[in-house]
Parts: sequence; structure tokens; C-alpha cells
Amino acid sequence: MRILIISDIHANLTAFQTILDHAKGQWDYVWCLGDVVGYGPDPNECVELLQTMPHLCLAGNHDWAALGRLDIRTFNPDARRAVEWTMETLKPENIAFLEALPVTFVIGEYTLVHASPREPVWEYILEPLVAALNFPHFETPYCFVGHTHQPVIYELISDNGDTRAREPRYGEPHALNGQRQIINPGSIGQPRDQNPNAAYGMLDTESGIFEHRRIPYDIPDVQKRMRAAGLPERLATRLEHGW
Ligand code: ZN
Repeated sequence: MRILIISDIHANLTAFQTILDHAKGQWDYVWCLGDVVGYGPDPNECVELLQTMPHLCLAGNHDWAALGRLDIRTFNPDARRAVEWTMETLKPENIAFLEALPVTFVIGEYTLVHASPREPVWEYILEPLVAALNFPHFETPYCFVGHTHQPVIYELISDNGDTRAREPRYGEPHALNGQRQIINPGSIGQPRDQNPNAAYGMLDTESGIFEHRRIPYDIPDVQKRMRAAGLPERLATRLEHGW
């Protein structure tokens, strides 16, 4: 089966539609690693578009924030404002969709979480040491995570836990060869690796081939809607810088 792997859409419909066009006809099923909403201007549209496709979706911290499950006093003021706007804007049926999302899902050789296997909603895996500490917390060979908005592959390279990070090579096949790996496809709607292009992944479960992909989208289009909605300016400008 060919799986479109997406994460951290963050209510950015323009980026979401762009990657769907880019991947058109190439997948059978969608795995979404959470944070469908938060930051961006299109929370209802993104939840509704996702539901038109055969999919599995995990809960992210921003999805939980929009449900009022988190104490958002720890968020920075811009993120907090965006959460409040998202709460006011989401339709009841889309809130119900977010409420039903699981925090982990195991399917075949793959574990899916938003953040990390040991802290599925919260932990940022930003370095090999943190990835190494997470390998004992899932049982399948491979785990897909989002949350950091940075595409990467962490590979376990020895029995004593040594782990190395591999930079994504866009459009090139990466073989899942039995070596344990934690893979982040990157973020669709708010990349944070100094590259503003939308990121996603494609997995063929039969051949065991994964591919990171990157595609530019119409950033001014989404910024216009953010400004019209009164979302913080800093959240609009960061999109063009990829941070
Ligand atoms: Zn996120």
C-alpha cells in the first residue's frame, strides 16, 4: 500500500492543497501525525478536507489545545492568541473529530505518534540522544513522528543505543531495511528548518521505500487570510522564512 504521510498542517489549507496536488494519484491511504489545526487561518477547511480521504490521524498538542485540554498559559502570546481564535472558529462537528483522535497507533511494522513514542503529545525529538532514549518505547521497527516541524531520519546503529541523524534527501528513495528508525516527514503548514516549502512523506509498505518530499506553495495567499482573521503578524511572516 502507498501511504501519504503528512503532519503539522496547522490550518494552512493552501499548503495542504498544494501537497495533495503534488502527490495526486500516487497514494492509497493517508497517515496524518497530528496538529491539523493551530496557527493558521483554515482550521475547519483542513479538518474537513482530511475527512474526505481514507485516513488515520493522531492527536497533536495544538489539536488538544484547541479542545481546551491544555493549560495554554505556558504558550507564548502569539500561540495563545492563535489557540483562542481557533477555539472560537472551529465548528462543533470538527471539534468532535479532534476529540476522537488517538495519541498512538500501531499498524503493521509502524508506530505512529505526534511527538515521541514515550511522550506522544509533548516531547520534541530534536537530536540523536533524545531519539536514542525513545527506541525502547516502541516495539515496531519503524516509528513516524511530527511535532518538531523538521524532516529527519534517526537510525539506531548499534545494540547499545547509538543513534545517528540523517538529513532528508528530497525525492530520493530511502530503504527501510530492518534497521530501527524514527522518521519525521516535516511540516506541511509551518516548516521550521529555514526552508519555507511544505514538507511531506511517501511510503510504499510493500517495497519498504520511504521518500521525503518538498514543494513550494503560495505563502502570500495564506498570509492574506491570516491577516484578515486578525491572527498575529509574527505567525504570518514566519511562514516565508521557515522557522
Ligand atoms: Zn505542530
